[in-house]
Amino acid sequence: MKILVAKFTLEANEHVPMKCDMNNVALSLGKDAIAHMQLGDLFDDPDIELIPVLCADAACSGVMTKPCFTYLEDTILNKIKENLKDLDGIYLHLHGASFVEEIGSGEHHLLREIRKIVGPYLPIAVACDPHGNLTKEYVENCSIIRSYREAPHTDIPETINFVCKQLINMIRNGKSIKPTYTKLSMILGGEQSVSADEPIYSFNNYLNEIEKDERIMSISWHVGYLRHDCPEAGCGIVCVPSDMKYYDYAKEMCEKAANEIFSRRHEFHYTGYTLPPDKAIEEAISFDDKPVFITDSGDNVTSGAMGANTFVLHQFLNIENLQKRVLIAAINDPKTCQELYKQEIGSKLHIELGMGIDKLTTKANIDVTIKYKGQQEGTFMYGEHGNYGPLVTVEVEGKPIDIVITDNNHSFVEKHQIDACGVDWDDYDIIIVKQGYIHPEEKAKGKLCIMSLTDGATPQDTRLIDFKLIMRPMYPIDNI
Ligand SMILES: [Zn+2]
Repeated sequence: MKILVAKFTLEANEHVPMKCDMNNVALSLGKDAIAHMQLGDLFDDPDIELIPVLCADAACSGVMTKPCFTYLEDTILNKIKENLKDLDGIYLHLHGASFVEEIGSGEHHLLREIRKIVGPYLPIAVACDPHGNLTKEYVENCSIIRSYREAPHTDIPETINFVCKQLINMIRNGKSIKPTYTKLSMILGGEQSVSADEPIYSFNNYLNEIEKDERIMSISWHVGYLRHDCPEAGCGIVCVPSDMKYYDYAKEMCEKAANEIFSRRHEFHYTGYTLPPDKAIEEAISFDDKPVFITDSGDNVTSGAMGANTFVLHQFLNIENLQKRVLIAAINDPKTCQELYKQEIGSKLHIELGMGIDKLTTKANIDVTIKYKGQQEGTFMYGEHGNYGPLVTVEVEGKPIDIVITDNNHSFVEKHQIDACGVDWDDYDIIIVKQGYIHPEEKAKGKLCIMSLTDGATPQDTRLIDFKLIMRPMYPIDNI
């Protein structure tokens, strides 16, 4: 059998001033794309011929430009057209939270265009992030769409394996399947839906039980994405029957699960320990053990923020006689990064750190010594390999503060990424990262982890976001 495979991921935060263009996309084409798709050995079967098209990973960024998206989409569509005569199925790894100029959701557009070419019945399997937005049309354009269960996303390879197995079965058994979908009157930020916490912990077990039923192929929870205003925003449930004779049953289970989680909506909360920015610093400084991780949650690059905010840096610079060793990983300032990268290690310079676009990226005038120059590493967790751009680690003169400066908003969620900054995380009392919820390796390392409720492109209080296009009523915007 011939299966075409492609991956396209983007969380498009419309509150950041930059647009997402090809420069922001880690792109690999053809066979090279497979290395980034976490497919495991599932397709090693001699019966199966893979047609890899591309892996376009834009991670978290701004709204994508139309030419950029059109290039990626056309590359996929042209490959489908070329292979249409002997294509048995399509596997897509899509995020679900993209947003494209003049188009809206990129994934929804892509699926619509694919169906125009392949017709209504060709099996299409989609593995997706739970932080993507759905519509009935999008879901019904898939034969199976299933999200990762865990947030943080520690089960991406398992989800891909599960979805691809179902696709192979569908093709082997000659089945055409249509999923069922229930949209909820509920909108959540990712930081409120963490799988180790209630209500998601027990709800995932509830979904796992339903998935054991042979009439059900899969059922999944979709948190949605709220960093761009669109009618698709909000939570949802997808339930896929194992055979179309169980379609009505799947629909029933889908609604049942939707009612179950909606009835528990008041249990959603910020995970972990959250504090207002001033209190977060106070508590980190007075804490006896180390390290303490502080997440700058308003500038969460894993949710599309620019990672350019200097607010927390200024907080530390303003402390007189700071006795704790602090590492900030990282601050995105392309101009400063590029200038520093040209200098020798050990050079002492005066820099203006910060992009100076708004009050949160105010420049810091500091004297620094260059400690290290290196390259950012990808993450195991998100299947990223290779080089993610330059970094320069500097030491602030007269203060026990080290800062990693980058030219993009890549996240630092794993230890090897901190190692790649030429520093040892055991040397620091306080480490600041640009995340919302703290990621697993850092959570395990941190003796204390504080989510600082900073301002920025990714504010944590959903009720304060000005939505115009979403369905109403919508909890917690509306009191339902
Ligand atoms: Zn996600």
